[in-house]
Parts: sequence; C-alpha cells; structure tokens
Amino acid sequence: MTLLELCDISYSVTGRKILAGLTLSIEAGEVHALLGTNGTGKSTLASLIMGCHGYLPVSGEIFFAGTLINDLKIHERARLGISMAWQEPARFEGLRVRDYLTLGTAAEEPESALRLVGLEPSRYLDRMVDRSLSGGERKRIELASVLALRPKLAILDEPDSGIDMLSTDDIIRVLDHLRSGGSAVLLITHRDEIAAAADRASQICGGRIVCTGSPGEVAAGFKSRKCISCDGEVCSDE
Ligand code: ADP
Ligand code: MG
Repeated sequence: MTLLELCDISYSVTGRKILAGLTLSIEAGEVHALLGTNGTGKSTLASLIMGCHGYLPVSGEIFFAGTLINDLKIHERARLGISMAWQEPARFEGLRVRDYLTLGTAAEEPESALRLVGLEPSRYLDRMVDRSLSGGERKRIELASVLALRPKLAILDEPDSGIDMLSTDDIIRVLDHLRSGGSAVLLITHRDEIAAAADRASQICGGRIVCTGSPGEVAAGFKSRKCISCDGEVCSDE
C-alpha cells in the first residue's frame, strides 16, 4: 500500500525553483532513503511533507494514505501520523523529559524510546527539556519523541534529526524498531552505510527524483556524481 505520494511537486522560494516536478512514493512500512548533494532540496522536501509554515507547493499534489493533504496544517498532518524530528525541541522547554515523551498519542514507553537513542532512562526521565541538556542530548531526546509516537511516517533529516549522534549500529537498530512497529521512514542521509539499511532509495537532483531503486544501486549512481536526467537548472553537483 502506498502511504505517501508526491505527484509532480514544484516549489519556489524568492523566485528560485527548488523543486521542479518531483514525484516520489513511499510504501507503508518501508524505510526509504533520500540521497542528494547539498542544496538539492532534501530539507525543503521534508518541510513540504510535514506542512511547515510557508511550505506550500506551487503545483502538484501530496497524498497521505490516499487523502490529499496539500491544504492541511502541520498539526493536522501530525494527527494523521506524520512526524519529523526537529533540530531543537525548543517548543517544549520547561517540560520534563518524561512528559515530553508521553505527549499526545505516544505508543511507546518513554524508557524504551530513550534506550533506543542510547540514553539511560533513570538519568534522563526527570530532567527538564532545557539548556541544561547538551545539544546532543536534546537531539537524541527529540529523536526518542518521534520513536515514542510510533508514527505512520517518520521523517529523519540526518543533520537535524539526532541520528547523526548515533553510531551506524544504533541507527540500524532505530530503523529496525520503526519498521517492526509499522512505521515508514523517509531517511535523509549522506552516509552510504546508513542508506544501505533502507529498503529502497531515491536520488534527488535538479529539483526532481532522478533514480529510485535498491539502496546499493542508487548510492552507486549518487557516488558517481553523474546526474541521470538533470535539467541543470538547479543542479548543485559539486
Ligand atoms: P538540502 O537539504 O538538500 O541541502 P535545502 O532544502 O536546505 O537543501 O535547500 C535547497 C535550496 O534552497 C538551497 O539552495 C537553499 O539555499 C535554498 N533555500 C532553502 N530555503 C530557502 C529560503 N527560505 N530562502 C531562500 N533559499 C532557500
Ligand atoms: Mg538539508
């Protein structure tokens, strides 16, 4: 079953085309890696899927579980089961970690979510989510909050999501956990060994998806740094 379907999405900011006819689908329960050089629009795409403020496609449709969600706000998309790990859980400053991890419709025990991100629950559950936590601890807790929700779709943008804090083995454990709980994952990464743990992968270039296949195939194409069908307009190949 297709969970997320992006159909012919275009997006511009200050008159500049970032995405130009991007089409991608993610199956329910699959871990789908998204590869692309810096500036190709991966984080923009994540924000468009999540429905962050100001991220409206110029054209194209976003379907989630068969429903057109273009006009849904971020909290409405969250309610449908889309969840993204943010760089900073600043919105919840002042909550205890325990409460932060049991907000909303948390399906997972906070203890197991913390263990999955490499934090000892007894040392963290009663701490406050504030500046007394290191940046790395905050990112891990943020990732734990996504795990605790057991979303239908988890968006993990590597530099922002806290997975960069984890070892490859830990990330693979997190992905296996999400997969076995039925979550699909959009995994934005530049590390081959992490992409290798995905079920499928896609490469973004020139504002669109240029290749989808097994992670090995797509990573090999990505590494060769040759665009397959880039129109050159927004290609930032280095
Ligand atoms: P990636 O995550 O793949 O590195 P981004 O999605 O962050 O890429 O950015 C894609 C392109 O869009 C970059 O060239 C970036 O400079 C540009 N961009 C992103 N957000 C904005 C913005 N708010 N204003 C202007 N340009 C932006
Ligand atoms: Mg990015």
